[in-house]
Amino acid sequence: MDLLENYLFYINIFLLMSGATCIFLGGGFLRREKNTRGFFKYSVFLLSLGCGLCNIGYCTMSLSTDLQAAYIFRVIGLVGIDLYLIAEIFIVISCLNFSGTAQYCIICLSSTAALFDIIIYGHPATNTFTRIGAFTTYVKNDPYRHVFHYTYYAILTVCILMIGIVWAINVQYKRERRLMRLAWVSNIILLLSALPDCFGTNAGPSAHLSYCVGVLTAFTVFYLASNNYIAFNITVNTISKDIFSTLGTGLLVFDTDYHLSLSNEYADNILGLDKEPNRIRLKEIFTLKKGEPMKMFVRAAKGETIDYRLTSKVTGKMTLVNFSCKMDRNHEPMCYILVATDLTEENRLIEEAQAANKAKSDFISNITHEIRTPINIISGNDELILRECEDPNILKYADNINVASRNLSSLVNDVLDFAKIESGKLEIMFGDYNLSKVITDCYNMFLSLATEKRQSLNVTCDPAIPSILEGDEVRLKQIITNLLSNAVKYTPDGGSISIDVSYKEVNVDSIILVIKIIDNGIGIKDDDKAHLFENFQRFELTRNRTIQGTGLGLSITKNLVMLLHGTINVESTYGQGSTFIVEVPQRIIDPSPVGEIASDFAKTTAKYQSSFTAPEARILAVDDVKMNLDVFVGLLKNTKMTIDLALSGAEALSMMDKTKYDIVFLDHMMPEMDGIEVLNRLRANQSSPNYHTPVIMLTANAMMGADQKYLESGFDDYLSKPIRPLTLENMVQKHLPENLIIKDVATEEADDVAAQVADDAPSPFIKSLDFLDTTSGLAFAADDEDFYKQIITTYVSEDKRPGLDEFLAKKDWPNYQILAHSLKGTSKTIGANELSEAAKGLEFAVKENRLEYITEHHAEVMEMYGELLEKLKSHIN
Ligand code: ADP
Repeated sequence: MDLLENYLFYINIFLLMSGATCIFLGGGFLRREKNTRGFFKYSVFLLSLGCGLCNIGYCTMSLSTDLQAAYIFRVIGLVGIDLYLIAEIFIVISCLNFSGTAQYCIICLSSTAALFDIIIYGHPATNTFTRIGAFTTYVKNDPYRHVFHYTYYAILTVCILMIGIVWAINVQYKRERRLMRLAWVSNIILLLSALPDCFGTNAGPSAHLSYCVGVLTAFTVFYLASNNYIAFNITVNTISKDIFSTLGTGLLVFDTDYHLSLSNEYADNILGLDKEPNRIRLKEIFTLKKGEPMKMFVRAAKGETIDYRLTSKVTGKMTLVNFSCKMDRNHEPMCYILVATDLTEENRLIEEAQAANKAKSDFISNITHEIRTPINIISGNDELILRECEDPNILKYADNINVASRNLSSLVNDVLDFAKIESGKLEIMFGDYNLSKVITDCYNMFLSLATEKRQSLNVTCDPAIPSILEGDEVRLKQIITNLLSNAVKYTPDGGSISIDVSYKEVNVDSIILVIKIIDNGIGIKDDDKAHLFENFQRFELTRNRTIQGTGLGLSITKNLVMLLHGTINVESTYGQGSTFIVEVPQRIIDPSPVGEIASDFAKTTAKYQSSFTAPEARILAVDDVKMNLDVFVGLLKNTKMTIDLALSGAEALSMMDKTKYDIVFLDHMMPEMDGIEVLNRLRANQSSPNYHTPVIMLTANAMMGADQKYLESGFDDYLSKPIRPLTLENMVQKHLPENLIIKDVATEEADDVAAQVADDAPSPFIKSLDFLDTTSGLAFAADDEDFYKQIITTYVSEDKRPGLDEFLAKKDWPNYQILAHSLKGTSKTIGANELSEAAKGLEFAVKENRLEYITEHHAEVMEMYGELLEKLKSHIN
């Protein structure tokens, strides 16, 4: 005892410092395990705090010369011990699977008891403080408070022991058993350390040492046990090493001297680091340009986290590298962390996916090619049935097949384009093209469809656009037609559609062509706009259920625009309409302005396709020129109407007496009895079955005010000759009783533009007729070459020269005028515009009584006519 007291000062100082160290260790433990879940870490910290406070409190009490202060230090020591005991309870219950409520109840109970202990046992009345030599100690004063204190300790000890027994029974693993054993040792040391104070009567200056040393030893034992018990709880620290070494990503840590200081196994493998010497630098790991490594370090130090694609210098593997800098608490670089992911597998998968995608696209492309052949056979044969069969039932079935095969064919074309785009096979062919032609072709392609839906189709084109451009004409047409097709489809009947063409100047060599397709149709919802150009996207399926489509059109269009290096955008208000805006850069070939392209529409006519049939209808066409009747029949042949023909007014009247017609088409200028007279006679005969039949005047006199004149004469309508297929068809539809019309419901899809262009390419026969305006001639023949040839053949067979010569000789001017008029019309029909003008000169000379003009020019015109007939004969043979 004397020895202890001799060294008590040093022992106190030692314990004091140990107490402080305990708190420091506990704090370190808490910091280290801050990311670990559960409250084991808090328990260890609380334990260290309890131990620390106990030692600091009691030792400073012992050293304190002031008795008042000594009392306070002792209370601190007491708080320390109570904290320690509560922490014990925390630990044990955290190791046992108690329910959350049970845990909280135990904690609350023990904390309240500890509080009572501090209040009661920490009360100044409990002890009297005295100085013994150089040290302060206390003598027990109030025995009841001591009894309370030790009863509390005894209960706590029993509780801890019981819980400890439960724990001992439940432990499963060796590591737990070790911890549990050491916890027992630690608690027994603690228990023993309390005995001297509990039973001792004469407190000496070193009485507090048993407490302090006991708590310190108990804590040391438990702290070491906790540290060894590395899997006691899964902590970040216990697994981070494993994570680091087993991670399926390469991790490299560089020091601030830019040398590699750590790398995991994965990094070693993918980057071949084991083959390199120590203290490796970045440039020795990856293939990098000079100065690049330093740039990477600098950027990382600035806080930029950057991804690089780098190739390993040793293994040659492509890696995705993420490079970042870890800062210390002074915000200065501590180390650089590089995460490297091996892209070899990813590249292989991408290549495999690309190959699979290509195989799929090739398959689709081949199969769609194969599907096209049978579709063509089906539609070809169906066409024959439609032409040759007269059974209305079969015609109806054939019509349905026609609609279905056209839809199928358009679908196959879409899929084929889609497959070509997907496999990158869609090639862009740049060439010179005439902008005016492209626009008029597209316009004409949709005119009949729009007319059928009573939609107005308009074109506005900036006349200053350079006329000849370089680009891919076929794809440009495909883009416009796809958008026009949608505009027509998604605009209700009676709506309006416009094509607006303008341009933006870029430089002397090029422009940006701006094409807008504007409609006032159903519009597109804002939510749908984002997905508009995606594959197979169709919106408002219920509303649009009757509209044919695949959802591929806009996706193909967008891809085409992108292939042309352009952009496509949409502006749309739901319920009000949409505007699709395409901008494509084009090179200028001929800067001369395109001018008013509207005049070009007159030269070209939409490819004729009858949009209805009327097999029950019967009409009469009257014309003195057989060729005109041939044209008439040819143009309406697809409508399956019965068409009766009469070559003179008298013949027409007798036919009209016998047969009831739905419409009568009556030529104006006929010898003997002209159209007006025929009409007058018909209307004068109330008993005629055709008394109420609409009569339409056919006239080549396209003069101002002529329409009014004909309507005043009692005609129901009039048609200018040469007859345009679409106008004729519309006229028939307008006057035919509705119940006779069977609408062709098929939407006239924009056919494969490539095929369209191929169709547009003139055949050798057409090319050989370079002395005719074949564009106009073909347009009057509904773009049907065979029909055109047939009309020319009739034209050649009807040589009007003998007739004209005879009338001239007889000075039979009225008949001369009629024949010249007919020559004018028929010549215009086949595209012999010069002769038509010449014949018009003769006709008008009679009309205006300028007979000397005829004497002067008749021979010349006849010679011209003769030459033309000779040429035509040689070509049609
Ligand atoms: P689809 O074959 O269905 O017409 P698209 O790819 O051409 O396929 O168009 C996708 C969808 O976008 C259509 O189903 C339609 O809902 C909508 N859409 C396209 N154009 C228009 C338009 N002019 N007006 C309204 N909706 C349109």
